[in-house]
Amino acid sequence: MILGKHINRYYLRFAPVLLLGLISLIVVDYFQLVIPNLYQMVINGVNQGVVEVDGQTLPFDMDFLLDRVCMPMVGVILAIVAGRFVWRLAFMGSAVRLEADLRNRMFDNAKNLSREYYQVNKVGNLMSLFTNDLDTVQDCFGWGVLMFFDALFMGSLAIIKMWNMNPLLTVLSMIPMAFLLCCATMVGRRLMRKWDIRQQAFSDLSDFAQESFSGIAVIKAFVKESKELLAFDDLNKENERANIDHTKTAVLFRILVSLFIESVICVILGYGGFLVYQGMFNAGQLVEFIGYFNAVIWPIMAVSELIDMTSRGKASLNRVSELLDAVPSVVDQPGAEAMKNIRGSIEFRHLNFRYPDGEFDALEDISFKIEAGENVGLVGKTGSGKTTLVDLILRTYNVPAGTIFVDGVDVNRITIQSLRAGCSYVPQDNFLFSDTIERNIAFGVEEYDPQKVDKYAQLADVANDINHFQHGYNTILGERGVTVSGGQKQRISIARALMRNAPILILDDSVSAVDTKTERSILANLRATRAGKTTILIAHRISTIEQMDKVLFVDNGKLIAVGTHQELYANCPEYTKMVDLQKLDEEGGEQRNA
Ligand code: ADP
Repeated sequence: MILGKHINRYYLRFAPVLLLGLISLIVVDYFQLVIPNLYQMVINGVNQGVVEVDGQTLPFDMDFLLDRVCMPMVGVILAIVAGRFVWRLAFMGSAVRLEADLRNRMFDNAKNLSREYYQVNKVGNLMSLFTNDLDTVQDCFGWGVLMFFDALFMGSLAIIKMWNMNPLLTVLSMIPMAFLLCCATMVGRRLMRKWDIRQQAFSDLSDFAQESFSGIAVIKAFVKESKELLAFDDLNKENERANIDHTKTAVLFRILVSLFIESVICVILGYGGFLVYQGMFNAGQLVEFIGYFNAVIWPIMAVSELIDMTSRGKASLNRVSELLDAVPSVVDQPGAEAMKNIRGSIEFRHLNFRYPDGEFDALEDISFKIEAGENVGLVGKTGSGKTTLVDLILRTYNVPAGTIFVDGVDVNRITIQSLRAGCSYVPQDNFLFSDTIERNIAFGVEEYDPQKVDKYAQLADVANDINHFQHGYNTILGERGVTVSGGQKQRISIARALMRNAPILILDDSVSAVDTKTERSILANLRATRAGKTTILIAHRISTIEQMDKVLFVDNGKLIAVGTHQELYANCPEYTKMVDLQKLDEEGGEQRNA
């Protein structure tokens, strides 16, 4: 049974069901302890021909066997079966509901966490929280409550019965048990540490497997299968070692428990036999006493199991709690208000930005203004800060007050949700879900008309490609379905962003994988459909941004120049050099192809 901040509430929430389970557990325990008394009557009846029942001496005959042994035994068995059914349903049912609820809460919190969290915590690790750790917590809740109370009720009821028969024999039987409890407490701590190491090893293994499967194309292209296999083998061995280590301690603990139990049986047989020899106990009573002790064995085993299980449960609950307690680092500032009807002007004022774990400023003293409805190109070398700049408009990271303004309002004073609702974003990795193309394109809108999906697919110049798929817009993408090319992926992502029809559209290197003709058609469609709305387009090819109202040229985290392509080409030597180099490259490429 585990207690903890995130789990205590479930004991309260499921209190009525758990109470019903406890009542049936007490009923089962009570009836189980009737059985040793029936043994005693049968053995004494066989030995002596008569049986003492409630101070009366009754003959041991067929009537007695039927009325006093068989009929009660049938009643006891029925009560035990019914009781076990009810407590299983109550305890295990609550545990399953707890698991589902915890999983929901974990997912709910995880989805609110900022990007920083996901940079530190890998997917494999998160997956093992949602599977392995949650299973352990569930086990500990259901079986834990059962074992705790069963050990308590059954143990104390049986010990009372034993005490009533012979106090000294009971005390002697309990001495090894006291040693067992001391050992159990010490081993329990050790088990918890071992379980923690085991879970960590499993997380590392899942992380590695997840990453390898995601990067299988790269692994194969570089013929690194055997290197990956060796690395996996190492992690698998580490996982195996951690498992064996935990199992060794758990097995050692179980052996200790059996040893203590066997030693108690020795004590009972030795001293109990002596009592029978002295005439203070009869054979039936000794068997009855052993029957009660047998009933105590399960609670003792349960206590040992409980210690092992609680140690595992606590370690897993700690890991789950870390996720539940994680707070998003990017949140609405106090007093932030939702902004309705964003027009789309964006201004940066002397913004300096360093990533939370960064060693240098990714952006330095950035100032510029984009008017609502402008088409802006953002160019610069790889690593110059383009993605960082657009990420900050979306408030993916915290920004200093008074540095970024949307429609003249500091972004820190706008709720993150309303700010992001005003933006459409095509990120560099163009992630698509394992779902139909239609639902991928309509991802950003609540309700949609399939005709509209087609319209936006046409604007992104991908409708023809989609219609060539056997199932058209109903084609499932990703792991369970069709793999699309890089260019198709980019264009489906553009269609998804266009369908959102937000006042600000940001495309991060989104046409790099399409040919120049398709790029021109997409850009023309953008200009036509997004008139009056702001568009920021990060690009490497100068041809992509030549026609833009404004070009922002960044280098090494600094904004070098702002203006039209022609202005920059005429006045900014770095820009001129970059454009000329690109032209040379393109001409070289054309000649090579000719
Ligand atoms: P670009 O989009 O122009 O290629 P980025 O904006 O992605 O460049 O990166 C700008 C700089 O910030 C680079 O030096 C990069 O290494 C660094 N950077 C990007 N993302 C992170 C991050 N999450 N943490 C720390 N540094 C980062």
